[in-house]
Amino acid sequence: MHNAVIIAAAGSGRRAAGASERPKQFQPAGGEAVFTHALRAFHSHPGVGAILAVIRPGDEPFYDEASASFGAKLLPCAIGGETRQQSVLAGLRALKKDAPGGVLIHDAARPFVSQDIISRVLAALSRRQGSLAAIPAPDTLKFARDGVVERTIERQGLWLAQTPQAFHYGAILAAHEAAAAAGRDDFTDDAAIAEWHGLDVAVVEGSAANWKITTAADLVLADRLLRLETSAQPPDIRTGTGFDVHAFEPGDHVMLCGVKIPHRQKLKGHSDADAGLHALTDALLGAIGAGDIGEHFPPSDPAWAGAGSSLFLADAARKIERRGGSIVNVDVTIICEEPKIAPHRQAMRACIAAILGIAIERVSVKATTSEGLGFTGRREGIAAMASASVAIV
Ligand code: MG
Repeated sequence: MHNAVIIAAAGSGRRAAGASERPKQFQPAGGEAVFTHALRAFHSHPGVGAILAVIRPGDEPFYDEASASFGAKLLPCAIGGETRQQSVLAGLRALKKDAPGGVLIHDAARPFVSQDIISRVLAALSRRQGSLAAIPAPDTLKFARDGVVERTIERQGLWLAQTPQAFHYGAILAAHEAAAAAGRDDFTDDAAIAEWHGLDVAVVEGSAANWKITTAADLVLADRLLRLETSAQPPDIRTGTGFDVHAFEPGDHVMLCGVKIPHRQKLKGHSDADAGLHALTDALLGAIGAGDIGEHFPPSDPAWAGAGSSLFLADAARKIERRGGSIVNVDVTIICEEPKIAPHRQAMRACIAAILGIAIERVSVKATTSEGLGFTGRREGIAAMASASVAIV
């Protein structure tokens, strides 16, 4: 039986997100979006064959960023409705054309879901039409009115519902369609809709660790926990390389690594033709697998005519920051017979360090000639190569 999961990520998440445009499920925690942690849990599980996220209209950029490194199992996302119930129904309908046998439904705001919990809810589907992860109520429950206890509630048999919840696909789709047709929009989870529709739903062991991020304080706590988890793992260091060439043409200066150097020629190019910064920008983009400079700033686009290349470099640094990365070090080598680079080397390092927002000791600029050989040896132009290391935290 092939199983799919719907990750419900269409909430506005206002309580946790505060003034941010970004709903809580797309806020960073432990260097990645909350959503990404949940997505990874299902992507890694061998019992899940397809993943469909339901998002709010307008959240596509957040979703694209948070799902960028996942491929094989990921279906195109669906757009949700006003309520969670409508959003899940949209997800169920979107699965129709390749209907799964079983479907799990999970809240994106639960990033700590474990492989074991996913296995348990799936296993229960062989006996029941539905199942949900839940934990026994751990504390004594009080019913209070106006802040005064009226009675203590018998805790025996009470469970706190979590997600994932799993169902036979046809059965939960029919239940959701029936609820929608009946004008019912007050269900707070899918197990409640299943129960209302007469399905038998098993309770399986969830975990207190599988908690749901609701408030801004929850988001801070989740970030700390996830950072602790990742700090126990070896550092994730990525390396990228870049190479660039620009030809000489008549002029009176060249731009190299952000420094203007008087010279009897200039470098030809659409922007300021700073081969050093172009090679470095490509190295940084390469380290995070984010394409190359020409893709983000096409030479055919008049907007970049004469542009300062510091703009391209600063953009690459922002992309790294958005992926939770930090630049470990960069190293640029300029290959030319002239002009002399050594007198400008410190200014170049300082310029790059300032653009990237890193310490100058993390920036290296070197120069070499090509011993009179090749196009650089014939003084037809300047080549630059660069490497960059980025730590993803
Ligand atoms: Mg270039």
